[in-house]
Amino acid sequence: MKRSYSARRRVLVTGGAGFLGSHLIGKLLERGDEVLCVDNLFTGTRDNLIDYRDHPQFEFLRHDITWPLYVEVDQIYNLACPASPIHYQHDPVQTTKTSVLGAINMLGLAKRCGARIFQASTSEVYGDPHVHPQPEGYWGNVNPIGPRSCYDEGKRCAETLFFDYHRQHGMEIKVVRIFNTYGPRMHPADGRVVSNFIMQALKNEPITIYGDGSQTRSFCYVDDLIAGFIKLMDSPAELTGPVNIGNPSEFTMIELAEMAIRQIGSTSEIVRMPLPADDPKQRQPDIAQARDKLGWEPTVPLEQGLARTIDYFRRFV
Ligand code: NAD
Ligand code: UDP
Ligand code: UDP
Repeated sequence: MKRSYSARRRVLVTGGAGFLGSHLIGKLLERGDEVLCVDNLFTGTRDNLIDYRDHPQFEFLRHDITWPLYVEVDQIYNLACPASPIHYQHDPVQTTKTSVLGAINMLGLAKRCGARIFQASTSEVYGDPHVHPQPEGYWGNVNPIGPRSCYDEGKRCAETLFFDYHRQHGMEIKVVRIFNTYGPRMHPADGRVVSNFIMQALKNEPITIYGDGSQTRSFCYVDDLIAGFIKLMDSPAELTGPVNIGNPSEFTMIELAEMAIRQIGSTSEIVRMPLPADDPKQRQPDIAQARDKLGWEPTVPLEQGLARTIDYFRRFV
């Protein structure tokens, strides 16, 4: 039953004060949705929401999704979860709780409201992959007891819960597996490679390459990713995912460091640091499904997206 007289779609975005969530909220408001942002501000900040704060269709609720939440909504985007290794390893038990208890609560809420629900899963479900590039059918190579496990296994369990609620209760689910994404509103001190390299290069400080720098990642610009989110959410109910969304252009960490140094005109030197435990050697999405079923593909090359991200980071130097 519809519980409000508004003809607008009421959309809940958990983790909306974070990097990806805040960009998603911008796009949803732009197209006329009512948005409720729920966030405990663990890694997110109100600053990311400044542009929407006074928007009449926007509302913010400080709340931790490991606790039940009773609101009335038509759609849920579940993004709440720290994403950078230093953040999710800071309180690993809370990280697993956020993924698992958070998913249960949001699925329970979606079930009661009859809402369609979207889960921000991750390429980390593939772990340190033995198959390259990674298609959705690959089950992954994840260490269940290592320092990254709270995140990887939490996200895997959340996927399990989404598919069980779908099978058991006939709910409409959408699961996206996000590959490394970058852009404005990344936290400057979150320890991820793009923010680290840009901040170090802007300050002419040493660029910290972990290991020999030959490991690869495939970086997607945030606007491309959010366009993919909305396409998946709006797709026919049969398309549950999981769907990989990411940019297949693959770079070594040395190539990324050199690009940041060149674009900034920095005098930074490259220094080597130990490789963290369980650090995946390579990562590249197979996006055939996103191309075929959603008509989505990335449009912003790393050179261009990096330049926009550098412009944003200048304010922190
Ligand atoms: P982020 O840290 O900027 O945002 C996460 C948000 O969730 C923050 O605002 C944080 O305060 C909030 N949050 C954390 N725990 C919460 C809880 N228990 N209750 C309520 N709010 C909580 O990270 P992001 O990069 O925007 O990532 C968003 C989502 O996308 C995450 O689920 C992440 O796992 C996923 N993801 C991101 C990437 C990426 O490259 N950025 C890659 C794969 C998956
Ligand atoms: N829940 C919630 N909001 C709601 C409905 C449910 O937060 O509007 C939570 C509640 O904590 C519940 C969980 O979601 O335990 C799972 O709900 P479900 O209906 O699947 O299971 P049950 O109520 O039987 O535990
Ligand atoms: N990395 C690096 N220097 C840094 C931060 C990260 O060389 O200052 C490496 C890290 O070891 C990993 C890659 O960059 O191989 C991507 O790391 P990030 O934490 O951004 O993401 P994830 O490992 O979760 O993909």
